[in-house]
Amino acid sequence: MTTKNQNLNKLFTSDTFADIVRNKLIKTVEDYKKSHPQKEIYMMAWGDTTHPIPAKVVEAIVDAATKLGHQSTYTGYGEFDGNIKLREAIGHNYYKPRGIELQPEEIFVSDGAQSGTFGLQELFGLDNVIALQDPIYPPYLEANLLAGRSKIIYLECQEENNFVPDIPKSKVDVIYLCFPNNPTGGVATKEQLKAFVDYAIHHKSIIIFDAVYSAFITDNNIPRSIYEIEGATECAIEVGSFSKTAGFSGLRLGWSVVPVSLTIESTVAGELTEMFRISQSIRFWGASNLSQAGGIAALSPECQQECQEIVNYYLENARILKEGLSALDLTCFGGTNNPYIWVKGTEGMSSWEVFDELLLKTGIVGIPGSLFGSSGEGFLRLSTLGNREDMEKAMNNLSVKRNYNRT
Ligand code: PLP
Repeated sequence: MTTKNQNLNKLFTSDTFADIVRNKLIKTVEDYKKSHPQKEIYMMAWGDTTHPIPAKVVEAIVDAATKLGHQSTYTGYGEFDGNIKLREAIGHNYYKPRGIELQPEEIFVSDGAQSGTFGLQELFGLDNVIALQDPIYPPYLEANLLAGRSKIIYLECQEENNFVPDIPKSKVDVIYLCFPNNPTGGVATKEQLKAFVDYAIHHKSIIIFDAVYSAFITDNNIPRSIYEIEGATECAIEVGSFSKTAGFSGLRLGWSVVPVSLTIESTVAGELTEMFRISQSIRFWGASNLSQAGGIAALSPECQQECQEIVNYYLENARILKEGLSALDLTCFGGTNNPYIWVKGTEGMSSWEVFDELLLKTGIVGIPGSLFGSSGEGFLRLSTLGNREDMEKAMNNLSVKRNYNRT
């Protein structure tokens, strides 16, 4: 008799992030549109990119596609851990300029940080204690619940600690950190990350560091990679992505770094790297050769500059939005070194009340902070990965501004 996967069943019968977004958030917006057909809606809920990919990257993808159409240049399956040229480019053009030396064998190409992160938890025992930031990007939690882990503790990220948690008070085995952070917009300084690295080395724990938004860091004192911290290659795995930095959210491309010097209880140097290689070869047969061709192009110095301009475009969106919302007397965090703005409701308001109020008074749609964890209650996340025109329209709409303050 076939039985259900009880871990999946538990997620299925509870409300996942995606379910709440689909069944409650989108429905509320649709109902609002029907009852207010004359009102403009400014969709700032999705953490998805909107700006086109640099022309040189598109050229490289088209070239790779053309090659697939000719007998002499056709290629089929590639290496499941990624095109060697791409892994070299990640090491050489992304990490090396930050003073970080990584070998291509330590870099595993994925079809995005989402599946990269999901695959990484397979390295660790089901009885491990997992520490998650609260609020948190939901898939880290969901991946661990799906795997069957139940020992989960939360590290609170609140206004008082600038949305950077303290190191765990007790011993934990795996710590997920995401900086620049989705959803709070927080960033961690070198000193703050060093405290986590020291903790991990002391307790023989592992840090899984999500650096998906690294390109949004403009402040030189904020590390873009955990490996900028001494000792991190002994205790940290890092996840990167081309989604937000080069507009690959639909193309799908990312990477995971599992350094050879990373060890945990009863492993020797290189063992975890090899274990990850094996698990990747079972689970995943490589990212699309077209997106990998695009990724190689995106990492060329010329395209990196263009990609950075796109990131700067989003950062300017964030500046405009934050300035505009602050003028409405809303308390906003994030938006610098990060594309997310974390809006705080007035004392006692729930996240859904902040959501409703902003929608009714300004037409802006965000994601209620409570969907990211209990410490997100009372906040709303706004994404600035949209079009400038929308940001400006939303902010320049003076009648909207007046209405907000009047009612
Ligand atoms: N990590 C964080 C913090 C994210 O916000 C996202 C996407 O929004 C991802 C990972 C997934 O990125 P990818 O598109 O590379 O799968």
